[in-house]
Amino acid sequence: MILPDATLGVLGGGQLGRMFTCAARSMGYRVVVLDPDPHSPAGAMADRHIRADYVDHAALAAMGKACAAITTEFENVPAQTLEILAEHCPVRPHAGAVSIVQDRIREKTFLRAHDLPTVPFDTVLQTRAVVQAVKDLGTPAILKCAAFGYDGKGQITVHNEQEAVAAFETLGGVPCVLERRVDLAAEVSVVLARDAAGNTACYPVAENIHVNGILDTTIVPARVAPEIAQRATEMAAAVAEALQYCGVLAVEFFVTTGGELLINEIAPRPHNSGHYTLDACATSQFEQQVRTLCGLPPGDARLLSPVVMVNLLGDVWGGGTPHWDVLLQDPKAKLHLYGKKEARPGRKMGHFNYLDDDLERAVATAKALWQELHCAS
Ligand code: ADP
Ligand code: MG
Repeated sequence: MILPDATLGVLGGGQLGRMFTCAARSMGYRVVVLDPDPHSPAGAMADRHIRADYVDHAALAAMGKACAAITTEFENVPAQTLEILAEHCPVRPHAGAVSIVQDRIREKTFLRAHDLPTVPFDTVLQTRAVVQAVKDLGTPAILKCAAFGYDGKGQITVHNEQEAVAAFETLGGVPCVLERRVDLAAEVSVVLARDAAGNTACYPVAENIHVNGILDTTIVPARVAPEIAQRATEMAAAVAEALQYCGVLAVEFFVTTGGELLINEIAPRPHNSGHYTLDACATSQFEQQVRTLCGLPPGDARLLSPVVMVNLLGDVWGGGTPHWDVLLQDPKAKLHLYGKKEARPGRKMGHFNYLDDDLERAVATAKALWQELHCAS
């Protein structure tokens, strides 16, 4: 067990690293953040910010020496970085799990091998394979880069073979998957925490609404049939078990109009759709990340109130500073801003949680507040 006053490390200094840092420091741990960005949102909150690249061996050695345990806020960290750090101290999640889920081909192949349902897909490594994949899967289909995609980036929807070939070229001919585009009744996710002994705490199923491929709103509890919620929870736990996972894990699902539940993707870290846990659960997903990193069992994942989480993208700053006064005057609204300097369109700047005993009222009020944030004069 690693106890307070010890130093914890986090790779990546964005908003997820920042919320991890806040959780760890409020529990009495010290935190070192590794991130090349001098304006890193997490770096600003940490005891120490090492401004270096993730493959800088001297920086990794310094971090390894300083820390009792290390985690990551993003999956695109080179697996070798995690392996180097693991020579110094425990690294959770382990490099093996991260390397599976950071690549869509390995991720989907892994799910298939464990009989976990995914969207029908084909691996695409050359132009010839993209033509065959369109024949196999039919259209519309989505060509996705195997690595480095997020918030809908690195994805192109295609309607025929020619478009698929062009899309493959646009994406630079890198390894891809072609997926059938399924008709969605809903998207849901399950965030869970699992310790090294296999003790697992699953948060309630969240319903996610995406706009332009980016998460917009999370509604909890998800408004899906109880059987769907039950199966999603079981599947997420099965994924964690199959990965021999230690840490916080998120599984995104598609619920199709035909009533199927398919795994979309896995994140080896706290997830945007788990930000509601900051205010609405007995233990937040970031506290779980601290606990599982430190060899402690997961905390109580119980939901204390229905909640709606609304992302605040840079677009909200379009007409100037948002009207925070409107939001903050509502006692049920909880604002979280990430301390990012520049509000670019599509950039995640913050979020707010809205807690109300009546879920539908929470949905309606959160939506109205979001509109007033930029409309009020
Ligand atoms: P990212 O890594 O950018 O989150 P996802 O694969 O989760 O990428 O895709 C982002 C969003 O695009 C999904 O949440 C969903 O709304 C939509 N989407 C992606 N793949 C499919 C698909 N096969 N069928 C229907 N919608 C999809
Ligand atoms: Mg996604």
